[in-house]
Amino acid sequence: VLARPRVLSLMTTRRCTAACDHCCNGSSPRAQGAIPVERMHALIDEAKQIPSMQRVGFTGGECFLLGRDLDALIAHAHELGFETRVVTNGYWAVNANAARKRVAALEAAGLDEMMLSTGTFHQAFVPVGRVVHGARAAAAAGIRCRIAIEACDQQTFDESVLHTELADEIAARRVFLGHDPWTTDAGGRGVTELSHDRLHEDGRRYQAGRCGEILDTITVTPDQNLQACCGFPTEQLPALRIGSVAEMSLTDALRESPNDLMKMWLHVAGPQGIAEFVGRYDPGYVLPPTVSICEACAVLQRDARAMAVLAEHAADAAGAIVAEFVQLHGGLEPLHAF
Ligand code: SF4
Ligand code: SF4
Repeated sequence: VLARPRVLSLMTTRRCTAACDHCCNGSSPRAQGAIPVERMHALIDEAKQIPSMQRVGFTGGECFLLGRDLDALIAHAHELGFETRVVTNGYWAVNANAARKRVAALEAAGLDEMMLSTGTFHQAFVPVGRVVHGARAAAAAGIRCRIAIEACDQQTFDESVLHTELADEIAARRVFLGHDPWTTDAGGRGVTELSHDRLHEDGRRYQAGRCGEILDTITVTPDQNLQACCGFPTEQLPALRIGSVAEMSLTDALRESPNDLMKMWLHVAGPQGIAEFVGRYDPGYVLPPTVSICEACAVLQRDARAMAVLAEHAADAAGAIVAEFVQLHGGLEPLHAF
């Protein structure tokens, strides 16, 4: 296998305390499915067999529903020398004291980074005050913290509270605020019709260029499928699946997966580069404007016209794609190091 993943992302559970409209994981308090805790410990050990692996991330659903098991998993990854990261909606930070206590256990386990997500759709379930408590506690404990704010035209969330309440932490560069497009759930589970006219007016179209995530971050889903990226539509796009790790180790699943062209092509050229290739055989073919590279990826992979061109002509580009992939990853060094 040519892949040299740096990040293992564990979608620990599909269950969440929230049920945000357009959640890309189909998460809610009623959602079923979780990677057994013992399997997650084994996956962390297996990740250690992959020399390129540097970081383990814990997402969901809501990974804080794992309680102390989350701390033990972080500690395990930390002891093996991995950087560690959690993604959470911050529901657990009910007040300053509770936030400090919960974060102290994470700090003791060796957590390096916390991402908190918030915005209009999250507000129905997790008030922004909890995100403030969580971010402040993380910053005080020296844990890098990023707050991801949903961005779409339907957004009514007033983010000024974050700027005001966390002014010191932001100024000290301990807390970072970012805006991530809140996009239509590729699984078709969203209700609100989303649009992004404001982002388009600001010039935020889909990002051209290669996808740095695919084959760099590999994800284990609650169903123990191994996916080749952590993009929001990954579970909905069959071409991004690597295999199952329910009965097989991470390293065996990677070893046995074919070096399929689509994954390497996305890695070296991204959806836009592939669409340009399609346009050479089908003049006039262009991707519609989107606000994220993952949205563009889903549109491309679901476009029968584009897929028909690729089925017929992708082999013409195979040699160049593999050569570029190998060059990106250290020239002629052997790549099957594990
Ligand atoms: S908090 Fe995140 S995982 Fe939970 S429902 Fe909302 S978007 Fe989904
Ligand atoms: S652009 Fe495609 S391959 Fe890359 S992270 Fe997004 S969904 Fe995954």
